[in-house]
Amino acid sequence: MDLTDLREALGPDQPGYRARQLYQALYKSQITDLVSISTLPTRTREELAQRHALGMPEVAHLYESTDGTRRYLLKLEDDRTVETVLMPEGERDTICISSQVGCPVDCKFCMTALMGLERSLTAGEIVGQVLLVAQENHLRQEGGRLNIVMMGQGEPLLNLENVVKATRILLDPAGFGLSPRRITVSTAGIIPKIEELGREPVRPKLAISLNASTEESRQELMPITRKYHLKDLMEACKAYPLRPWEKLTFEYVLLHGVNDSDADARRVVKLLANLNAKVNLIALNPGPGIPYETPLPERVASFQAIVRHAMPCFVRKPRGLDIYAACGQLKRNAGNPVA
Ligand code: SAH
Repeated sequence: MDLTDLREALGPDQPGYRARQLYQALYKSQITDLVSISTLPTRTREELAQRHALGMPEVAHLYESTDGTRRYLLKLEDDRTVETVLMPEGERDTICISSQVGCPVDCKFCMTALMGLERSLTAGEIVGQVLLVAQENHLRQEGGRLNIVMMGQGEPLLNLENVVKATRILLDPAGFGLSPRRITVSTAGIIPKIEELGREPVRPKLAISLNASTEESRQELMPITRKYHLKDLMEACKAYPLRPWEKLTFEYVLLHGVNDSDADARRVVKLLANLNAKVNLIALNPGPGIPYETPLPERVASFQAIVRHAMPCFVRKPRGLDIYAACGQLKRNAGNPVA
């Protein structure tokens, strides 16, 4: 619920500042219980608690990796489950959240695709993942230590309205208070939605899953791109209104012998040449049902060297591989529960 929703929930008899107090209690102070909102009169709290529940997701399982990554299997109100991953790294924490239960995009290298789409998440369920994992781990967003990436289950731009509503609450200084540089949404390339996102005054940074260097190979790996062509995607990227401090991120999953050649790397450079871009390479994280192999380390190094000549290019470190928490591995029930 945003401020307008809360005003409505409180009813017309309450003064306007009550909704703001409630909003701050929920997202800034992150209270865990409606009755404990000390800024509201006792009667208001009790009435609220009678009529409403916080609706936080429940931890169905927690999987813990030897590298410190924690994969949460969260149960939603309708008993469906979805995954959220916490990746601590020195002073920095990153929470990878889901935008849908399952995913409709059907990328051939991704385990989430094997689930199909069950449903989209509400804005409350998107924000709820962050609140819950922050609470469970005593994470603080002050000092820019917390990052959010919308790279879990689902295609966020096919649930844009809720993703934007959740982003507004997460970025609002009176709400969760995250800096706009600390939240990133990743898309398989839903072109009309990229344009729509660009028109939003409050929005996350944008990452695009490129994953291939030619139209043909991209269509094979990511069937949805038969509808959203590479050439049009590049045009939408060129037209995308970046903020002064912002770059477009392109993700590229390297698949052994499929899209990891030097020629591929050179085509990627050419494709992105006129953009303010950076590239994140991801060596395939394997999994049951995925018909591809991880690239050889020397291929990854050679690919990176070629791209890095032209623009910033990083290799994403796999996190939580042993608990099926890494990119492309979120499919709910693999791995061993820890708690
Ligand atoms: N649907 C959105 C959000 C998911 S982000 C998107 O496609 O961008 C997940 C990232 O992990 C994407 O960049 C995707 O290309 C990558 N990925 C998917 N499966 C993978 C796998 N098996 N190994 C490594 N990366 C993978």
